[in-house]
Amino acid sequence: MAISSLFIANRGEIAVRIIRAAKALGIRTIQAASEADTDSLACRMADEVVVIGPPQAAKSYLDVEAILTAIKASGADAVHPGYGFLSENPRFVAAVEAAGIIFVGPDAATIAKMGDKAMARSEAIAAGVPVVAGSEGRIGDLDDARRQAARIGYPVMIKASAGGGGRGIRVVEDEAALEKLVPQAMAEARAAFGDDGLYMERYIQRARHIEVQVLGDGSDVVHLFERECSLQRKRQKVWEEAPAAMLPEAVREALCSSAVALARRVNYRNAGTLEYLYDGDTQEFFFIEMNTRIQVEHPVTEAITGIDLVQAQLRIAGGERLWFSQKDIGRRGHAIEVRINAENPARMFMPSPGLVTAYAAPQGVNTRFDTLLFEGYRVAPFYDSLVGKLIVWAPDRHEAISALQAALGDLKVEGIHTTAPLHRALAADAEVRLGDFHTAWLEGWISPAKLEAAGT
Ligand code: ADP
Ligand code: ADP
Ligand code: MG
Repeated sequence: MAISSLFIANRGEIAVRIIRAAKALGIRTIQAASEADTDSLACRMADEVVVIGPPQAAKSYLDVEAILTAIKASGADAVHPGYGFLSENPRFVAAVEAAGIIFVGPDAATIAKMGDKAMARSEAIAAGVPVVAGSEGRIGDLDDARRQAARIGYPVMIKASAGGGGRGIRVVEDEAALEKLVPQAMAEARAAFGDDGLYMERYIQRARHIEVQVLGDGSDVVHLFERECSLQRKRQKVWEEAPAAMLPEAVREALCSSAVALARRVNYRNAGTLEYLYDGDTQEFFFIEMNTRIQVEHPVTEAITGIDLVQAQLRIAGGERLWFSQKDIGRRGHAIEVRINAENPARMFMPSPGLVTAYAAPQGVNTRFDTLLFEGYRVAPFYDSLVGKLIVWAPDRHEAISALQAALGDLKVEGIHTTAPLHRALAADAEVRLGDFHTAWLEGWISPAKLEAAGT
C-alpha cells in the first residue's frame, strides 16, 4: 500500500529533508515537535504539527510512549524515524508494527539483529565478510575482558554493543587501562543507550572509514557504491565524500559485493549502510557495524548516483519492489559533504546555540545546502549541534574541493558560531587535498594556531 500520510518522528535538517521527499511523492506530512521546536523550518513546511512534549529529548523525541500516542492520534499510515533518536530502537519499531502502521525502515527483528554491534558482527562472520579480530559476542566481566584482550593483543577498542554517534568507545593500551576503562564504558553505555553490553576489537591504526550504501526490498539488494568518512573528531564524521578516492577498483568491487552479501543474508528491506575500516597498506577491509537507517551523509551518494534515497525509502516502505537493478546504477564524478555544526572551533568546539541574525545559503547547479536554518531562527541548546550540511558535486575530487571552497565563501551564518571556518581550513590543507588522511588524522591536525589562521 503506497503511503499517503507520513508522521515524522525527528527534527532538524533531516525532518526538512524527509518532508521534501514526501511532498515530491504527494504524501501528506505530520511533523512531531517538542515545545522548543514549534517554530522550526520543518514545522513551517509540514502539513500538520503535533506537539509531543517538553524540550528535553528524553521527554519528547526519545519518549516511546509519547511518540506512539501522537502517531496513533494523527491517523498517519507511516512513520519516518530519520537518524538518531528512535530510528534503531527495536521496541519502538515493534510497537509501530503492532499498531498496523508502516515503519520506514527494516522490521523490528532486523533492527534488533543488525543494530546491535556484537550481533551484526556474528552475522558478518557467518556471511563470510571480514571483521576486525575481536571478542566473540559480548564481554562477560572484567576477567573475561582481560582474557579476550590478551588473545587479541593490545591496543584494543571496547565498544558499546548498542552504541552510536561515537559514544561508548574506548581505546585501551594495556591491562592496567582495561581495568579502569571497562567499568567506565559500561556505565556510559548504560546511561546513553540503556544497555551496558560491551564487546572488543583490535584497534586498527591509520585506518580509513569506508561505508557502503545498500537498498533492499526484502528479496533483492543492490548497493549504491561507497562513501569515505575518515575525517572525524571524537569518532564523529565531519567531512564525507563519495566515492572513496583512494580505493583500488578491485577492492571497491569486493567491498560492495560483501555488503550486498551481508544485507541479502538478512533479507534486508529499505536503506542501510554497512561500515568498514580499510587498511590502505594491506588493502584489507573489515566490517565494523551496520546502520539500519538513513545516514547523515546520504546526500553524497545521491549526488554521484542520481538516486533520491529518502524517496526510495518511502517507496520501498509503501510496498514497491526495487525499480532498478544493480547494472542500472552508475556513478559519476565526486561529491563532498561538510557538516556545519553550531559550535565554536576556536573554543574547543563548544556548542554555540542562539539567534541567527543573518543567513545566506550557497547556491549553484551542483551545490546543495540541507539545513534547518533561516534568518531569525533561534538554535536551541537541547539537541545535536548539526545545523546544516553543505554538499557539492564536480567531475573530479580536485574540482569538488574548489567548488566546496567557493560554496563555503558564500555561506553566511551570523549570530552563532559554526564549524564553517574549520572546513575552510581543511579545504585549503595540502594533505586533505591529496586525500592523505585516516580516522585519527583530524584530531592530530586540529590546533589553536590552525583554527586561528582559519579566521575563527
Ligand atoms: P551517521 O553515520 O549517520 O553520521 P551517527 O552514528 O554519527 O551516524 O549518528 C547520526 C546522528 O544520530 C548523530 O547526530 C548522533 O549524535 C545521533 N545518534 C546516533 N546514535 C544515537 C543514539 N543511540 N541515540 C541518540 N542519538 C544517536
Ligand atoms: P558508532 O556507532 O559510534 O558510529 P563505529 O563502530 O562505527 O561506532 O566506530 C566509530 C568510529 O570509531 C569509526 O569510524 C572509526 O573511526 C573508529 N573505530 C571503530 N572501530 C575501530 C577499530 N577497531 N579500530 C580503529 N578505529 C575504530
Ligand atoms: Mg558508525
